[in-house]
Amino acid sequence: MRVTTLFGLAVLFAATSQVVPQAQAPVRSLPPISPTPQASVTTLASRLELERYKATVKGLTQFGDRRQGTERNRKAVDWIQAQLESYGCPTERIKYTYNPPPPAPRPPAASQNRPAEPAIPRAVGGGRPRGIRTPTGVNADPQKQPNDALRALNAEPATNGPREEVYCTKIGSKYPNEMYIVSAHMDGHGWGEAANDDGSGTALVMELARVFSMPDVQTERTIRFALWNNEETGLNGAAAYVEQRKALQGKESPAGSGKFPEPTWLGMIQHDMMMFDHGMPRADGTIPPEQRPEADVNIEFQMTAKQTLGAQALAWFFHAANEKYATDYPAQVGPHMTNTDSTPFMDEVPAISLRENERGVHVGSGWDPQWHQPTDVFATYSDKDFRLGLNAAQTTLGAVGELTGATVVAR
Ligand SMILES: [Zn+2]
Repeated sequence: MRVTTLFGLAVLFAATSQVVPQAQAPVRSLPPISPTPQASVTTLASRLELERYKATVKGLTQFGDRRQGTERNRKAVDWIQAQLESYGCPTERIKYTYNPPPPAPRPPAASQNRPAEPAIPRAVGGGRPRGIRTPTGVNADPQKQPNDALRALNAEPATNGPREEVYCTKIGSKYPNEMYIVSAHMDGHGWGEAANDDGSGTALVMELARVFSMPDVQTERTIRFALWNNEETGLNGAAAYVEQRKALQGKESPAGSGKFPEPTWLGMIQHDMMMFDHGMPRADGTIPPEQRPEADVNIEFQMTAKQTLGAQALAWFFHAANEKYATDYPAQVGPHMTNTDSTPFMDEVPAISLRENERGVHVGSGWDPQWHQPTDVFATYSDKDFRLGLNAAQTTLGAVGELTGATVVAR
């Protein structure tokens, strides 16, 4: 089988997969993985700073939970756009309509045809939950937010209707027609400040836009920095992007202009909840108060995606970048990417997500007690938590810097 020669990655695939994808896409080759850091990329990584990362998270929290379909969400989109423009990264918007029908009444429990419990329990995304688990959910009770000002800020309910989300683009000098998409979601919910979910990923993407947009930075390939809306309602903002722009890939417009409004997608990298890795719930259901010393960045691909082989190769490329460019925390690779904005992309292009923990078996088992809760506020997190987000930023900057041929040009 041809795939067995792909950097030995098919070995991992065979060992972890329960479902064979229907049609595996041809794998576009990545540059060979080298253990040696590139000098220009190291310089760029040094331009990421903990205090700037924290300040950007803090800036996002001024709009409360940034729930989609509200004034505070629209103001946050405007603010993000102004920041990106101030970095010298030209912005555009995607417009779509979010108008879901009211939920259908649920049939009485007795008539529900429940599928039989699987012999081996599975988390969302396909992983196997183990160890101590605590319940999770979305807080919908305003009174659980003790801060009066924040409760008032988050009071306006969502209404259906038109939506907008913003992205900015660094155009490649040699291959403007090829692109990596670096993304996070800017909406949140739960009556907090959505500081970790997903202010931490949004700030990461904005900081990378800032560094790559510096006047002395050149990349051979294009990078698009996207801040999706409507993630929490079902990945609707990312899905709208795929639907509207998938067919435009690689088309020069106007003809002969050298301009590519939608460069061909080479990879998509999503960042969603970057900071909190305190470990498994303890036997009494509480969570350790400190970032655990073994904290890591979890890089996930989805083993059932049509582009899974390319996504695995991309994940290991990021793993190597972490070892070269991340100052404090290591990375792990896993096959169960799920429930974030890379999902609508994963059959079209190699897509991965970076996160504080695995989404299915860790976050889904209660490892992040702030998740969708009033406690997801800036003040909850220590510098050790923010530093995990910064290390994810160093990881993605390193990998994307190498993949796009980034250089710092003498001026
Ligand atoms: Zn999220």
